[in-house]
Formats: sequence, C-alpha cells, structure tokens
Amino acid sequence: MRVSNHIGGEAVDAIDGRTLDDLAPATGEVLATIPRSSAADVDRAVQAAGDALAGSWGQSSVAERADLCDAIADGIEADLDRFAELESIDTGKPIHTARTIDIPRAVANFRFFAGAARHSQTAMHEMADAINYTLRRPLGVVGLITPWNLPLYLLSWKTAPALAMGNAVVAKPSELTPLTASALATLTAELGAPRGLFNVVHGLGAEAGQPLVAHPDVAAISFTGGTATGRHVAAAASRSFKKLSLELGGKNATIVFDDADLDAAVAGAARAGFTNTGQVCLCGSRVLVHRSIHDAFLERFVQAVAAMPQGDPADPRTRVGAVISAAHRDKVCSYIELGQQEGGTVRLGGGRLDRPGFFVEPTVLSGLAHDSRTATEEIFGPVVTVHPFDDEAEAIAIANETRYGLAASVWTTHLGRAHRVAAALHTGMVWVNCWLKRDLRVPFGGSKESGVGREGGHYSLSFYSEDKNVCIQL
Ligand code: NAP
Repeated sequence: MRVSNHIGGEAVDAIDGRTLDDLAPATGEVLATIPRSSAADVDRAVQAAGDALAGSWGQSSVAERADLCDAIADGIEADLDRFAELESIDTGKPIHTARTIDIPRAVANFRFFAGAARHSQTAMHEMADAINYTLRRPLGVVGLITPWNLPLYLLSWKTAPALAMGNAVVAKPSELTPLTASALATLTAELGAPRGLFNVVHGLGAEAGQPLVAHPDVAAISFTGGTATGRHVAAAASRSFKKLSLELGGKNATIVFDDADLDAAVAGAARAGFTNTGQVCLCGSRVLVHRSIHDAFLERFVQAVAAMPQGDPADPRTRVGAVISAAHRDKVCSYIELGQQEGGTVRLGGGRLDRPGFFVEPTVLSGLAHDSRTATEEIFGPVVTVHPFDDEAEAIAIANETRYGLAASVWTTHLGRAHRVAAALHTGMVWVNCWLKRDLRVPFGGSKESGVGREGGHYSLSFYSEDKNVCIQL
C-alpha cells in the first residue's frame, strides 16, 4: 500500500518525496510506505485548513457541521469491516477488538458529537439595565496528535468535536499506524466536505508533530500520547499560548476487596489488564488484592488470562494480539526481566512468543514490592503485577503512589467503601465493579502526570471553541 498525506482535499506525497515504511506488527513485514513529512508539509496543511475556514466552512451552521459528523459516522459504519481490517493489520490488534470496540466507538464518537453540538446551549446573564449573552466561536485551525494504540478511536474522539464546533483540522497520527486516518480523510473528501477541512500529515513526531505544535496559525493542540512527549508538547505550545489538551500515560490500579464478587473481579481484572494486548492508557496493570483472598484470586486470575487466546490478529477467536513494534516488544520484555531482578515471580508468560511478528506472552508477576519500578512505571503491554494489601487505607496509599493519575477500578460489594475509595483515589476516573464502561458525556482525563484538561461531552465542545460575552445596554 502507498499511503498519502491528505491536504486541501487531495492525496499528496511529502514535498521532498521522502517516505517511511509502515510495518505489520503480526508479521514484521512492510505493509505500506507513508510520507515522511516535514515542516513544509505541515505548513501547507495549516494553510489549506485556513482556506477552508475562509470559505464556506467559516459560515457553516451548527446543523451543517452536525450533519457532516453524522454522515462521517454513517460512512464508517457502512464500511466497518474494511476499517476494522485496516486497523487490525496496522496495529496487530485482534480483528475482534477492532470490530467490536475501535471502529464502533469511532462511529459513536461522530454521532455523539453531532448530537451534542446540536443540543449545546450558551448562557444569557440579565442585569437591571443590560443583558449579556455568550457567543461560542470556533478556535480556527486545530492540531490533533494521536498515538498508535487506538488510532481511529482517538482521532475520532478529537476530530468529531473539533468539526462540530466549526474548526478545521490538521491531524498527525502516529507514523506506526497511519492507515485508518488516511481512510477517514478519503471518506471525508468523498462526502463532499470543504477542501482543507480535514487534513492528515503523516510522519515522525519530531519532524511533523513538532512543527504542528509550534505553528503560529494553529490555535489549539489536542495531544494524546506518552507523558515524556506530552512534556515537550506542553513546552512548545506554551510559547504561542495555544489552547492545549493533554491525555497522557497511566499506571492504573485494579483494587479487589475481600467482599468483592470474585468471579466478576477476576474477569474484570483480566479484561482491564489485557484488552488491546495491555496497550490502553486505562489498562489496570497493577492489581491490588486483599491479603485474605490474594492467593485464591491470583490462581483464578492466572487461569483467566491463560484462557485468552493469543495469536493471529486476523483470527476472530484471538483476544490477545501483537504489540506495536519490535522496539516496543523489547521494551516490554525488558520490564519482565526487570520485574524478576526486582524479586518478582513470573506466574504466567514471561517473554516473547516464538513466532514472526512482535508478540509478547500475557504475563502475570507477583511478589514484587508495590513501589518497585515494574509496579509503578508504565509498561504499556501485556504485563500485570499482583500485590497484597491489608486494609482499605493501605490499598488507597498503594494505588496513589505512582506519578500517574489516570484511572482505577474498584471491586467491592460494600457501598460505603466504594464511595470512600473512589473519592480518595488521585485519578481522573474510577470504575466500581466495572472497567472501561464509557458514557461519552462524562469527563475523561487524568490528573498528576496523566494529563491536563478533560475531554468528553461539553468538556470537548468547550475545548474546541471560545466563549465570547456580548453585553448590550438596554
Ligand atoms: P508518543 O510516543 O508520545 O506519541 C504520541 C504522538 O505524538 C505520535 O503521533 C507521535 O508521533 C507524536 N510525537 C512524538 N514526538 C512529538 C513531538 N516532539 N511533538 C509533537 N508530536 C510528537 O506515544 P505513543 O507511544 O504513540 O502512545 C502510547 C502512549 O500514549 C502511552 O503512554 C499511553 O498511556 C498514552 N495514551 C494515553 C491516552 C489517554 O487518553 N490518556 C490514550 C491512549 C494512549 P510518532 O509516533 O511519529 O513519534
């Protein structure tokens, strides 16, 4: 496959003609060549986006924008199998995951934000001799930078509210997973969207992402990715006072109390640990279990994880696929080795799978100190550590002792405990007796080094727009 940039409604190569190879994680073979874009390509895309705003899109009504989002949702849904196949071969994720999670959620994102924009309201504040009303205006050109783990899902999570609020987009997907972003750009053009409304610039973070963040005509950056990259992005964006949303890394705790429904907790912890081969920012990679049930839980947890079929992502029965790259496989495996050096015992898995492509066995470690590096640093792969705790206060303290603050899940049948623990955790999101249950209206985001700002529902509508107050003397 030959993948192009999408700029001003056209599929184009990088200006200097350079390319990168996109590998299929399940085989290690070259899947596509993509443009290796530079600042000049970004500049062209930002200009095209500006032209779209200067044209008809700048005058578009909320209804027109919402209709476009609905049409994109319908278009992805009508072609769900192809989008799912592209996502699966590009990421190495099971086709089952792409078909049942990634692509349906991308459809849901466009549909949800179409409805949210249609129903959004602005305020009016009355004085004795004047009225104030709030106009909600688009920001202009917005830059969307997304990672490789949930390519279309996360791109749609940003693109839908950005378009619904009247902005034009320049997207920089991860160079490891360019395919569905390109398919989305093609679909948007086929639907007759204004030229330049949705642009995609492929390439490396340092060469294409950085110029987008630094570009003087880009009003806002929404970034999802690692915490270290987020730090660079925040520093670069602050120079031009861009509006900034940062969704960063996580090291999330799954906390299982002795009063939990053990069947549900085991199944939930296995799902939280290994969905998308452990490569979801929200994955519960540290399982904290009350000491009285620790051994029984561990045994059943290992059985549940061992029962998840791993292998060819194209096989609909597969539940654990490949990791994204050889470098990432080696990083994940180095953490498994570190875990053993730090005193952990491998209960399941323990290394790479002996087959072509980039596979790591689902791995469970126990016996590690809860403040070890393995238990507190983000591994972002199919590796879960299990730790005992003695009481509620200790569970909360262990859960809070990482520099991350994204999410947690709590398993208990004690109502008061559920509320107490949820309130005490230093995270942006807490699930009780569930995990990754998503309502698109709720605030999504992290605290501490897991991010700045919230997305979702009116938080996204607010991020992608600027409120302006108008005061009228009566
Ligand atoms: P990453 O290396 O930080 O990359 C994210 C994106 O930023 C990619 O498109 C990357 O391009 C680009 N980039 C890299 N350097 C840049 C720079 N200097 N300026 C601008 N853009 C730059 O993250 P990843 O490895 O793709 O994704 C995994 C991370 O994302 C994990 O830490 C995970 O927790 C986090 N994540 C967070 C959430 C959330 O909602 N909180 C959701 C999903 C993932 P290249 O790929 O081309 O380098």
